[in-house]
Amino acid sequence: MQSPSPISYRGRFAPSPTGALHFGSLVAALGSYLDARSQGGEWLVRMEDVDTPRNVAGAADDILRTLAHFGFEWDGPVLYQSARVAAYAEALDGLVRAGLAYGCACSRKEIAAASRTAVDGGLVYPGTCRAGLPGGKVARAWRLRVAEGEVAFLDRLQGPVAQELARDVGDFVLYRADGLFAYQLAVAVDDNFQQISQIVRGADLLASTPRQIWLQRCLNFPTPTYAHLPVATNAAGEKLSKQTLARPLCRERAAAELVAALTFLGQPVPADLAAAPLAEVWAWARGNWSFAAIPRRPAMAFLPG
Ligand code: GLU
Repeated sequence: MQSPSPISYRGRFAPSPTGALHFGSLVAALGSYLDARSQGGEWLVRMEDVDTPRNVAGAADDILRTLAHFGFEWDGPVLYQSARVAAYAEALDGLVRAGLAYGCACSRKEIAAASRTAVDGGLVYPGTCRAGLPGGKVARAWRLRVAEGEVAFLDRLQGPVAQELARDVGDFVLYRADGLFAYQLAVAVDDNFQQISQIVRGADLLASTPRQIWLQRCLNFPTPTYAHLPVATNAAGEKLSKQTLARPLCRERAAAELVAALTFLGQPVPADLAAAPLAEVWAWARGNWSFAAIPRRPAMAFLPG
């Protein structure tokens, strides 16, 4: 008897517990889930609660309950980033020992005075502490050295993406002055730890991807494939988020919410599916999912009727 072939697709959904799931998060969950399941892949959930001041009490449990209620089934236990600090510290330590990361004493004010705006709206680090801390200063944060040249990848939806990290971002923070590990490091370490092979997520993270790929290279991790889904925006063109007061998902209307998300992802859902029971919506989604139908755009308005 032949042994089953090893699973070669492992995807994930990685919400931050900063509030309830909204339509934008449902699109990311659904897109990553159906892409994984349609290829016989595994799908993991990771709770990105590394930025503790932004966590909202009860939000992680609420997110998991909502996902379960909507009919998502994840593989294995949920990984909580708050329990992974030792792994991030080990990765940072290795980078420092290899001379790839360095301590930085600069205050935000000092950086702002000598800097320009980065691709993500932050500040390009001017490199002040690259060659060592200025006399009498102590490290407040730790940064990763970036090299000249492009970091490029082929996004499965958005096409070729390239970034000049030195020009567009600068040496970026791995360990923050407030004593927390940065999102970029946590994501790179955990995607590798969980052996994620395919990442499907919102295009709001497109500008972060070259940094994560650079980190993977510095840490000798493999680079997964990426597909960045269009981000749902409101009538004002703003990304749906807690900040823009996006409406939390309604559990009582789970079937209709899923149909709206499928429609947003370009799937040709039959007109009467929104009124069908949840199980029927999933059966249709599993049987008809088409990655090729997803709009290849970074953002799209979602204007519920
Ligand atoms: N935790 C991030 C967010 O909720 C997602 C990170 C990722 O998918 O890489 O925006």
